[in-house]
Amino acid sequence: MSGYQIPQNVHGDFESFKRSYEEYKSGAIDDLKFKTIRVPFGIYEQREANTYMIRVKLVGGLISSKQLAALADLAKRYAGGKLHITTRGGAQLHYVKFDDFLAVIEGLHAAQLTGRGGGGNTVRNITADILAGVAKDEVFDVTPRAIALTEKMLAQKDSYALPRKFKIAFSGSSADRGYATIADVGFIAKTKEGKRGFKVFIGGGMGAKSRVAKPYLDFLPEDEIFLLSQAIKETFDERGNRKNKHNARLRFLLEEIGLEAFRELVDTKIEAIRSRGGYEVEFREFDEPKPIVAQSDLALDDETKLWRDRFVYSQKQSGYYGAKVPLLLGDLDANGALALADALPKDRQTIRFGSDQNLYLRNLTLEELIALYPVIKTLSPQTQKSEILGDAVFCTGASTCQLGITIPRGALAAIERALLKSGLNLDALGGFRIHMSGCPNSCGRHALADLGFFGKVLRKDGVAYPAYNIVAGARIAETNYRFAEAIGDISAYRLPSFVADALKLWLEEKSRYASYADWIDGGGKAKLSAIAESYADIPSFDEDKNPYYDFGASARFSLAGRGAGECSAGMYDLIEADKKALKEALNANDWTRIRFLAARMLLITRGEEARSEAEVLSAFKRLFIDTKLIDESFAKTLEGEANESAIKLGEAVIALYDTMDNTLKFEAEKTGAIAAQKAARFKDYRGVECPMNFVRVKMDLAQMASGDILEILLDDGAPIENVPRSVRSEGHAIEAQTSEGTAWRVRIRKK
Ligand code: SF4
Repeated sequence: MSGYQIPQNVHGDFESFKRSYEEYKSGAIDDLKFKTIRVPFGIYEQREANTYMIRVKLVGGLISSKQLAALADLAKRYAGGKLHITTRGGAQLHYVKFDDFLAVIEGLHAAQLTGRGGGGNTVRNITADILAGVAKDEVFDVTPRAIALTEKMLAQKDSYALPRKFKIAFSGSSADRGYATIADVGFIAKTKEGKRGFKVFIGGGMGAKSRVAKPYLDFLPEDEIFLLSQAIKETFDERGNRKNKHNARLRFLLEEIGLEAFRELVDTKIEAIRSRGGYEVEFREFDEPKPIVAQSDLALDDETKLWRDRFVYSQKQSGYYGAKVPLLLGDLDANGALALADALPKDRQTIRFGSDQNLYLRNLTLEELIALYPVIKTLSPQTQKSEILGDAVFCTGASTCQLGITIPRGALAAIERALLKSGLNLDALGGFRIHMSGCPNSCGRHALADLGFFGKVLRKDGVAYPAYNIVAGARIAETNYRFAEAIGDISAYRLPSFVADALKLWLEEKSRYASYADWIDGGGKAKLSAIAESYADIPSFDEDKNPYYDFGASARFSLAGRGAGECSAGMYDLIEADKKALKEALNANDWTRIRFLAARMLLITRGEEARSEAEVLSAFKRLFIDTKLIDESFAKTLEGEANESAIKLGEAVIALYDTMDNTLKFEAEKTGAIAAQKAARFKDYRGVECPMNFVRVKMDLAQMASGDILEILLDDGAPIENVPRSVRSEGHAIEAQTSEGTAWRVRIRKK
């Protein structure tokens, strides 16, 4: 069995993407607009000018050898010959040129892979336990559930324009290797009275304000995973904070309204979805490999034996083994990937990309694994090293990421040099987790580390230098979950020495503790803080310039050039960009520009995308002046040449924006101060096919007075594409068009 199947609507979305791509090329749409289109396709601009990263969904990291070969082929042709495994077990192609976007997406679709929902405020790649399907402690294999949920979520129109990203995770056991307890929605496999289902968690997440998820349901039957996920998503879509991206994730909504109020909203959604139907899920189970007797007396040379002892593990299926292939920062050479894909047996599912950025082989006999070792060791130098070095999780940081402060890639190499020089027995550290992020955003999962770091800036004598916050002692399990605790900070310059000292101390005291987290709680935290403190001082810039250069950087450390986050691409970016430009125009007293920007700034909240100045002014009059959201006296400001009254208009629009809430309603609309805003009539035309839905709308409008408002609900697809267009062609105005779950609410003003 392969992974997910791409639903038909995603192919339709790609056709629409192609049109936008051509419009952007011809200059018909600007950078910002195109960004809001490309990011939900998983396409992010890199720091290096004119290069892009394309993210690919792999549900639970699952990828067939055929798909791996296809990805590697795309990497060779368009991405500098490298693949990258992400911390959500997906794949990324870096350094893709703008001209190659379409060829890459077509290649992905041909391999039944997509980047749709790979970025932006979308339902992101659904993750699963790295060992799902092979772990000895799992309740059942969660992978088919993650795949089924992905296919359903990909097919929902409302999965792509949420208040913020929405992450779902599955774990097969209470060890929570899938990190369900830090997901927006997390599922941990359970059985009840012989039936499969999940304990459900919600509202977790990492980042600047990390939260462990709250238990939501003790048991959800497995066939209701889409029903509940969709209800939570719709509630989030309606009530999430769209105005402040820093407080937009689901966890902030839960904190704002409380778990019980949230539950009531979700229950209402569940009933609505039940009555709509279409929430059923089907699971395609994997074929189990045939049980065989393991051969344990294989003669191995020292190198192969050391590798086996470090990285090979036995599965729950008798006679079968898996192996972790540690990769440096998740990088995989395309030629190596092709060789691996070619060498793997084709009659079984054998590859996973792990959320620890390593590659996992599975469902192989020991003989098959040993025979593969010559190919495996060419994939990464980490395969020849202790697990602690091979297993480190680091984001790319400022070398490619626009938000990055520091460069964890460079720091890793420096830490490795220091550890190898230290003479410590690194194999005795086993799977000790060192994680590092280039900024507080947690892509390097520092909060889940034994010893974690995230980038920051410090100054000495007013000169900035790269540094890291230190955290330590995370606990990961269904119960007793804890993020790593704050220890202190350290300059990048002193970081390698700090790590070597910290690990030396742990090795000395390790035998007295059951876990590193126990050591942290038993006095280790204070000891680590003391080590960090002893390294606090660095030379001044005049004494030594080295601390003022980050590892792997050729230029002196500086925050110049750090851009706005791509993840925030969306409606608010567009509004905020116009607002900023409007303020600049106000400062410059540029009446023409003030009038244009003031009129355009909030049009997007009404679903309007006017482009020319005439269209913008006309739409603004219709949607904001005629509706009395903006004082009628400004109608004159829109006529003829711009004059000084544009300044007051600009200020009025900014003031109006300040009253807007998360549901895009302005204060006057909420208080009922605008009588004209009330719909004279409402009709639900979901389930009514074209052209009958339009005929009925026509009949409704025929019975209404000029200027009256008709609100209708339409199905996604042909109805929403056709009806508003036809209504417009008859001279009526479409005042707003907003998604509501799988339907659309359209507000029509009769001509
Ligand atoms: S943690 Fe920060 S620097 Fe690293 S990839 Fe994420 S946003 Fe970029």
